[in-house]
Amino acid sequence: MQSRYFTIHDHPQGMPKRDLFKLEERELPELQDGEVRIRNSWLSVDPYMRGRMDGVTTYIDPFELGKPLEGAAVGEVIESRNSRFKEGDKVRHMGGWRDVAQLPGDQVEALPEFDVPEQAYLGVLGMPGTTAWVGLNIIAEMKDGDNVLVSAASGAVGSLAVQLAKAKGGTVVGIAGDQKKLDWLESQGIKAVSYKGKGAKQLSEDLKAACPEGFDVYFENVGGDCLEAALNNLRVGARIAVCGMISRYNDQTPSAGPGNLAMILIRRARMQGFIVFDHWEHHGDFLKEFASRVASGEIDYQETVEEGLEQTPDAFLKLFEGGNQGKMLVKL
Ligand code: NDP
Repeated sequence: MQSRYFTIHDHPQGMPKRDLFKLEERELPELQDGEVRIRNSWLSVDPYMRGRMDGVTTYIDPFELGKPLEGAAVGEVIESRNSRFKEGDKVRHMGGWRDVAQLPGDQVEALPEFDVPEQAYLGVLGMPGTTAWVGLNIIAEMKDGDNVLVSAASGAVGSLAVQLAKAKGGTVVGIAGDQKKLDWLESQGIKAVSYKGKGAKQLSEDLKAACPEGFDVYFENVGGDCLEAALNNLRVGARIAVCGMISRYNDQTPSAGPGNLAMILIRRARMQGFIVFDHWEHHGDFLKEFASRVASGEIDYQETVEEGLEQTPDAFLKLFEGGNQGKMLVKL
């Protein structure tokens, strides 16, 4: 059995170029005791993968040059030498960026049986959905009626964060990059503010116009001007959940932090970073609260789908150009 997979052979400087990614092919070794072979049907591409390309250990190991890239995927077991799995089982695992994965069974989990499409377990009911839930409930300790600001608000994490926040009342404002995304946010009852072509000062004024009382919670996905503008619009006692800073992931030299960091002091605010996997014990609670709302259509989760394994690098690169609305996925 052949497996086709993507590798990188160098560490990118700045925004990766398409030719960084090589599509390779190899014959898989015979299946060992305890292993399963999976034909992937959906691949996830995520912003955190950019950090894994730098050859540096952060909260996760870097990708190894010349080895298959990794990422979340769902697929179907096509061969098993593990008693937990049989042919035809639908599973989720980290052997993405390839069409056929072969893994030890303890690195594979059966998909839950909610009435949702299987790719939902890569987005709304997977890591991004759990991130939105953890960031709001555990890190920002959002309370009913809080005013909430979310950046990258129509992406995989942001589009769920705004809906979760909206359900608890208060004014919810989302920052996003283009008109289609702003329209979608408004269709959800979210006040939408564009950041494109504005500096922090203008963005700050636009946020003030959208929510003059200021924000109790800022769900940070972007950094840079969004953070500076958000700091100017905090209420006393605000909580900032630092989920991501995508505007910085391709920086080649460190950029200056916001000049108004003293707003944390002035507004007696708390700012806390988090990595969702440190809080994975909440995934079960999240599924219990969320899966039926997703299955009933109450949660309007968005997907952007690229078709074919060959499109995986393009799908990944589009994350940094705003080319996705909701979860960016590759369908095989
Ligand atoms: P998204 O689906 O939100 O895709 C990324 C979006 O970011 C783009 O669509 C784009 O939207 C926006 N963006 C890209 N570059 C910039 C820029 N320079 N300035 C402003 N906006 C930009 O991705 P995810 O939902 O998967 O991830 C969102 C954030 O959450 C990322 O920072 C990611 O690293 C982080 N994350 C953190 C986790 C954790 O455990 N801490 C777990 C999962 C994600 P637009 O058109 O609006 O510009």
